[in-house]
Amino acid sequence: MNTKPTNHADIEGLVEDASLQFFNTFGVEARAKYLIQITEIEEFRQAVEFARDNFLECLVIGEGSNLLFVHDYPGLVIVMKLQGIAREGSLLRVAAGENWHQLVEWTLSHGLYGLENLALIPGTVGAAPIQNIGAYGCEVERFVERVIVYDTQIAKEVTFNHDDCDFSYRDSVFKRAPRGRYVILEVELRLNSEEQLLLDYEPLKAVVSKLDRVTARDVFDAVCRIRRKKLPDPKLFGNAGSFFKNPIVSAQKLEALKAQGFDVPSYATDDAELFKLPAAWLLEAAGWKGRVRGQAAVHESHALVLINLGKASGEDVLLLAQEMSNSVLQRFGIALQPEVQII
Ligand SMILES: Cc1cc2nc3c(=O)[nH]c(=O)nc-3n(C[C@H](O)[C@H](O)[C@H](O)COP(=O)(O)OP(=O)(O)OC[C@H]3O[C@@H](n4cnc5c(N)ncnc54)[C@H](O)[C@@H]3O)c2cc1C
Repeated sequence: MNTKPTNHADIEGLVEDASLQFFNTFGVEARAKYLIQITEIEEFRQAVEFARDNFLECLVIGEGSNLLFVHDYPGLVIVMKLQGIAREGSLLRVAAGENWHQLVEWTLSHGLYGLENLALIPGTVGAAPIQNIGAYGCEVERFVERVIVYDTQIAKEVTFNHDDCDFSYRDSVFKRAPRGRYVILEVELRLNSEEQLLLDYEPLKAVVSKLDRVTARDVFDAVCRIRRKKLPDPKLFGNAGSFFKNPIVSAQKLEALKAQGFDVPSYATDDAELFKLPAAWLLEAAGWKGRVRGQAAVHESHALVLINLGKASGEDVLLLAQEMSNSVLQRFGIALQPEVQII
C-alpha cells in the first residue's frame, strides 16, 4: 500500500491557481487553488486522495450552468467529465459527465422517450438530479431510478434509489446535503419504449396543436425552438437561466395578494393549500426587466434571467440579485430563493 501523501506534482492534469472563468456560464472570474478535469474514475479517486492528504475541500462541478462564483475557491475544483452510456432495454446507466442535451438526442434516436420536454437544458447528467431539472411540464425525477454517488463522509460509493433522493421542485437530498458531501458518478434512468407525450404546458400545447399527429421528435423540436427564442445564449451574455425559484405560497397568501389588487397568475401544486407563483411575473411587476447595474443586468425580455454584460464579477451579479429579491419582499411580502448555487 502506498502511504506517501500525494503531491500535486504526482497528479497529471492538476492545475494550480486556475481561472474558473471558462468553467461557469456566467463567465465571471474567480480562481481555484487547484483544478482538475476528470474523465476516468481512477483520476477521480486520485483527486479525492490528493485533497484528503492536503486537507483541501473539494467542489465537483459539471458545466457551471447553475452556479455563481462570488469568491475564489480555496480547495480543489473537480470538473466532472466521466463519459459513458450503458443500455439494458429501457434502462440507461449514464456517467455523470455526459452532456444532458446530447443524452436527450441520443435517447430519441435510440427509440427511448420521455426526456423530450427537457431538451436543451444546459449542463451534465450528473447535475440533473441535484436540482431535479425541469421544464415544459416535466421533471427529471419522473425517470430517475437510481443515483450512484461517492459519499465523501464515509469514503464509499452509495446507491440512492428514487425515493431516497427525496425529490421536490428544483430540490433533492443532494442539493440539501452539506456542499461536497455527495459526488454523483452515475445516474440510472428508466425511459419509455413507447411515446407518452406530456403536452399540458401551455406554450408547448399552443405550438404542437397546429400539427395533425404529434411525435416525441415534434415535442423535442418545439421545445428547442421555444427555448432558443426565449432564453439568452450564455455564449453571447453570461447567465445561468432562471436565477430564482418560483415561490410557493399558501392559499391565504394568494388571496391576500389578490385582495391587494395584484393579478398574479398561480399554479396548483400537489398540495391543495399551496400555489406556485411565477417569480418572473413578480420581478416584472416590480419593474426589473431590462434594468442595468454596472456590468450586471436583468435580461430585457426575461426578468428572471440575470446577465453578465461582459465584465461583471460574481459579486456584481449577487448584489443585483439581492436588490431584486429585497424589492419583491417589500412589494409582495414574498422572499425569493435563488435557484442558482452561490459559491
Ligand atoms: C440558459 C440556461 C437555461 C437553463 N434552463 C433550465 C431549465 O429549464 N430547467 C432547469 O432545471 N435548469 C435550467 N438551467 C440550469 C442548469 O442548466 C441546470 O441546473 C443543470 O442541471 C446544471 O448542470 P451543470 O453540469 O452545469 O451543473 P453546475 O452548474 O456545474 O453545478 C450545479 C451544482 O451542482 C453541483 N454538481 C454538479 N455536478 C455534480 C456532480 N457530478 N456531483 C455532485 N455535485 C455536482 C455543483 O457543485 C453545483 O453546486 C438553465 C441554465 C442556463 C444557463
